[in-house]
Amino acid sequence: MADILTRGIARNGRVRVFACDTTALVNVAQVKHGLWPVASAALGRTMSVGCMMGSMLKSENEKITIEINGGGPMGTIMVDAHHDGSVRGFVADPEHHYIYNDTNKLAVGVAVGRDGYLKVIKDMGLKQAFTGQVELQTGEIGDDFAYYFAVSEQTPSAVSVGVLVDTDASVIASGGFIIQMLPDATEEDIVYIENKLNGFPTVSSLIADGKTPKDMIDMIFEDYEELETCELSFSCNCSRERCYRVLGTLPKEDLLAMIEEDHGCDMHCEYCSSTYHFEEKELREIYDYLVIKEKTHA
Ligand SMILES: [Zn+2]
Repeated sequence: MADILTRGIARNGRVRVFACDTTALVNVAQVKHGLWPVASAALGRTMSVGCMMGSMLKSENEKITIEINGGGPMGTIMVDAHHDGSVRGFVADPEHHYIYNDTNKLAVGVAVGRDGYLKVIKDMGLKQAFTGQVELQTGEIGDDFAYYFAVSEQTPSAVSVGVLVDTDASVIASGGFIIQMLPDATEEDIVYIENKLNGFPTVSSLIADGKTPKDMIDMIFEDYEELETCELSFSCNCSRERCYRVLGTLPKEDLLAMIEEDHGCDMHCEYCSSTYHFEEKELREIYDYLVIKEKTHA
């Protein structure tokens, strides 16, 4: 079943809400990157928020990039998401295992660390991108984004994200929801939402039980009005052609070293773990082109 995202408004338009099921795409990420369970949980939670933030963008040309680094053993988490539902991401070091002893749950906050930052870059196709950054609160991702929305975007928000991983490391369920107070939200709206979310089941358990994003929203709001539902997918825009063009921007000496010492090169895309190999002959072509270009410009 394809992953989906639903967004809409509730409480007479004073609140907006996003919900998503990202189980399939987090499974794709798990396989591509060989994620261990706690890395699936950290990346999956971040990708779910990324998808929902992507749907907050206004147009197809806009992109959101999330970077989280809490100084923990897993290192940096990077996620890119677009308005059309495509998302990609990776964690620097996916091979760690941490469990909270008291709850037996994956210790995302330990793997991520909490001494660091959460950064969001909104590329709106203009010269200047919007960048917002906050200090991490717990490293559990959901809390950190709630803090980010409140501080950096002045939008009080409830963020719930979760990932359930099986014993064979495959992802059973992943998804989340974000509820945001619009400027004319009332105290009553805030109390209503707090009461609803108090003791609310975890998102991952709801998705594992077969609930759709819309079902989850219906459990919270009685007057939800849907604005859009779209499909989500893991997709990376890297390609051999792009890598070829990047090689053409390298200093000549570097290319020469790859030709004479390495007799070829491999270019790796961290986002999707693809590797593109270039033969010595191809590097020579690029090198010769750069030499000719330099001569004609001399
Ligand atoms: Zn890629």
